[in-house]
Amino acid sequence: MLKIEKNKMGFSCEVFPPKRNDDIYEIYRTLDEIKLIKPDFISVTYGAGGSNSKKTATIAAYIQNICEVEAIAHITAVGMDDNLLTSLLFELKKKGIDNVLALRGDKPKLMSDEEFENRKYKYAKNLIPEIRSRGDFFIAAACYPEVHPESSNREEDIRYLKDKVDTGVDCLVTQMFFDNKVFYKFMDDIKKAGIDVPVLAGIMPVTTAKQLGTSVTLSGSSVPNELSQMIAKYGNNAEDMKKAGIEYAVAQIDDLKKNGMDGVHLYTMNKADVTMAIYEAVM
Ligand code: FAD
Repeated sequence: MLKIEKNKMGFSCEVFPPKRNDDIYEIYRTLDEIKLIKPDFISVTYGAGGSNSKKTATIAAYIQNICEVEAIAHITAVGMDDNLLTSLLFELKKKGIDNVLALRGDKPKLMSDEEFENRKYKYAKNLIPEIRSRGDFFIAAACYPEVHPESSNREEDIRYLKDKVDTGVDCLVTQMFFDNKVFYKFMDDIKKAGIDVPVLAGIMPVTTAKQLGTSVTLSGSSVPNELSQMIAKYGNNAEDMKKAGIEYAVAQIDDLKKNGMDGVHLYTMNKADVTMAIYEAVM
C-alpha cells in the first residue's frame, strides 16, 4: 500500500487505457519503459460510466505485478452502484492493488441527464466512505488550483474540498495547471482551510498544438501567455514543439522543487519518451 509523505518532492505518473482493445500491448510497452525511472506510483484513469473499467484494473495489475510499481486505479461515482463498487474493489484486491483515486466523474456523452442526476453516490466524498467500508485502501482524491468548473466560487470549492478530505483522503492530486503562482496561492488557501494532506502537483507537458484544443481546454486550466506564445511559435513543427513542451514542464517542476512541494504527478498522455526526458531533467 502506498505511503506519500509531505515535502518529499516525489514523482508519479498517470496513464489512460487505450480506446481499442488491441492497443493494450502498446500501453504495456509504454509502462515497461516508464517503470525504469521507478516512479512512486502510476495511476490509471477510469471511464466514468464504466466503459473501460476492466481495462483500468487490468492495466493497474500490470503496473503492480509486472512492473513492480505501486498502481492507483481511478474509480468514479458516476456509473457506480453498491454491487459494482463491491465487485470492482474485490477485483482490485485480488489483483494486489490497494490504492485508488476516488472521483465523481463527469457525465458521459451517452448518459441521460436523469441518470447522471440520480447517481447513487453524488460526490467523490460520498464514494470515499463506501470504499473504506469495503477494505483497506490508500485513497487519493482530486483538487483544482483554478477552482472546479462547476463551483460558484473559490471559498465554496475549498469548503467542499475540506469536507472531502475529512472523509478520509490520504493525498490529493491536482488538475493540471501551467502557472505555478496559481498553485502556490491554492496551497496557501487550503492550508488556511485546515487541509494538510500531501498534495501532488499535476503537470501536463504540452508537446503538440492539438493538446491545447483537447485535454487542456477540457480541463478548464488557464493558458499563460508564455505557453500560448510557445505554441504559436513551434506548433507547426512537431520536433520543436515537443522539445519546447518538455522544457516548459521541466521549468515548472524545477520551480516546484525549489519551493519544497510534496510531489509532482505527470500527466504522461501515454508518452514514455516525454516522461523519461522530463524525469531525467528534473530528478
Ligand atoms: P467532487 O469532489 O465530487 O466535486 C465535484 C463538484 O461538486 C465540485 O464543484 C465541488 O465543489 C462540488 N461539491 C462537492 N460537494 C458538494 C456538495 N455537498 N454540495 C454541492 N456541491 C458540492 N474523470 C474520469 O471520468 N475518470 C478519471 O479517471 C478521472 N481522473 C481524474 C484525475 C484527476 C487528478 C483529476 C483532477 C480529475 C480527474 N477526472 C477523471 C475528472 C473528474 O472526474 C472531474 O473533474 C469531475 O467533474 C469532478 O470530480 P471530483 O472527484 O473532483 O468531484
